[in-house]
Amino acid sequence: VSFGYENVSPEEKTRRVGEVFSSVAKKYDIMNDAMSFGMHRGWKDRFVKRVKPQAGENILDMAGGTGDIAFRMADRGANITVADINQEMLDVGAERAIERDEAEGAGSLVFSQQNAEEVSFASNSFDAYTIVFGIRNVTHKEKALKEALRVLRPGGRFYCMEFSVTDWSGFREIYDLYSMHIMPRMGQVIAGDTESYRYLAESIRKFPRAPQFEAMIRDAGFVNTKAEIILGGAVAIHSGWKV
Ligand code: SAM
Repeated sequence: VSFGYENVSPEEKTRRVGEVFSSVAKKYDIMNDAMSFGMHRGWKDRFVKRVKPQAGENILDMAGGTGDIAFRMADRGANITVADINQEMLDVGAERAIERDEAEGAGSLVFSQQNAEEVSFASNSFDAYTIVFGIRNVTHKEKALKEALRVLRPGGRFYCMEFSVTDWSGFREIYDLYSMHIMPRMGQVIAGDTESYRYLAESIRKFPRAPQFEAMIRDAGFVNTKAEIILGGAVAIHSGWKV
């Protein structure tokens, strides 16, 4: 995989992002633990607590990858459609779904290959839409937000968790050093893949800070938007409603 993707066409960017996730799929879960020092588990628990999935609800987990968010929501009884552009990530998710210990009364899980920019589901068909650490990889983010709004029913809710740059100086310098130098090395050692992890670190630095991204969510047509800041903005949980 080679980068410098800001100089390539949108189609080429989407293709390269595809290559990144095909390359990392098998090691994705181990790498998440290693690179976030296990913290991603706590953030994901917190995220699902905010979404408050209810038994019987239909939730679309976009960019759902290997199922971390979907499993947590299904355990609360919601019916989850796990959508992702990358079939290899979904395959790992489906394998995990077969192996996992389901909570009593767990909801159903369906895996579906989808591009967030152009979703094949009918309008007004989901109670909630979630996207976790996924939207920064989408080439046309505005399109994805519009699609999220379309597939939600009126009264439906949108929740997104994403990385960005932290406003805490000191932490920012350490984080930069870590993401630019250590993350790609860890990628090399654990997954034999430096470039994919360099891309992933770079995409975090480029993602808009919480106030700008919240404005994008509002511009797409969501109301009552909110941003919950974690670690000075290194992680943010965004939400909004369709009326
Ligand atoms: N949500 C999962 C989690 O938190 O563990 C997976 C996050 S992973 C960092 C990002 C995912 O976004 C990958 O599985 C990738 O294939 C997916 N993705 C990237 N671009 C996408 C697009 N345009 N539409 C749907 N999924 C996309």
